[in-house]
Amino acid sequence: MSATLIDGKAVAEQIREEIKSRVAQLRTQGVVPGLGVILVGEDPASVSYVTAKEKACEEAGIASFEHRLPADISLESLLGYVRAFNEDPRVHGILVQLPLPRHIDEKAVIAAIAPEKDVDGFTPVNVGRMLLEEPCFLPCTPNGVLELIKRTGVKTDGAHVVIVGRSNIVGKPLANLFIRKSINSTVTLCHTGTHDLASYCKRADILVACAGKPRLITADMIKEGACVIDVGVNRVADPTAKKGYRLVGDVDFSGALEVAGFLTPVPGGVGPMTITMLLQNTVESASRA
Ligand code: NAP
Repeated sequence: MSATLIDGKAVAEQIREEIKSRVAQLRTQGVVPGLGVILVGEDPASVSYVTAKEKACEEAGIASFEHRLPADISLESLLGYVRAFNEDPRVHGILVQLPLPRHIDEKAVIAAIAPEKDVDGFTPVNVGRMLLEEPCFLPCTPNGVLELIKRTGVKTDGAHVVIVGRSNIVGKPLANLFIRKSINSTVTLCHTGTHDLASYCKRADILVACAGKPRLITADMIKEGACVIDVGVNRVADPTAKKGYRLVGDVDFSGALEVAGFLTPVPGGVGPMTITMLLQNTVESASRA
């Protein structure tokens, strides 16, 4: 058996076309959707994520406003930039690229983002609204995973979903979304305190790996025919690659290909969906404004 690959890039392209026409329509009404981006420091992964997000904005017709700030910036002045974006009517969504340098209180920065511009869906207000199923911006990676599953046609109603990873930005919100009545899955959430991880994974109809550990999930941990979503993006050294490294997920791709029913590649799976959901939230925010 060989799994059907879920082409996240193609699905994302399709949604971006839909977004583009919404943007064009808003522009005819005099509204130009805008994303305010804050990048602190020069972490290469963060720089490349921010660059990719800005390029995607440009292609969709969304304006981006950027602050690239030094790594030694103080919390107070960083908060000043966030507040300025909160007040800027050209900015409908605010993205603070994480992680922030150690001396910065990340929670304080996130909490300072106006909830109506929190297109990443990270503020306490947005997280609370998501939990209560009130109107809010859904966090981009979890929402992207769900959209990918939905558009692939994999059944979630009654499915047993196993998520490996409980971070605030991926695992926790994703578990929460899967248990919504409209999605109706049963969720097992695994983490480093889970004993015998394989025994849980093996029972998953839908297995989501979001641990940030290269090849944590091997073929023997996957149920025959399961849908496997690999959120992990890990750099592993590869002297044969131009950059000296390559990107791999949390799943042993070639092994999983033999067992799974559906599988997302890395790169080209969840990544493009995350950016697309950010664009979608920004356009949504602009149309509300
Ligand atoms: P994170 O904050 O480091 O959280 C990782 C989670 O995985 C933690 O809950 C941790 O458990 C759990 N974990 C780690 N090793 C484990 C193991 N051996 N067994 C079971 N659980 C384990 O990471 P994150 O920010 O959620 O990101 C996870 C991965 O997704 C990273 O590779 C990241 O680059 C990638 N990512 C991709 C996208 C995308 O768009 N494709 C977006 C966001 C993140 P504990 O809580 O017990 O420590």
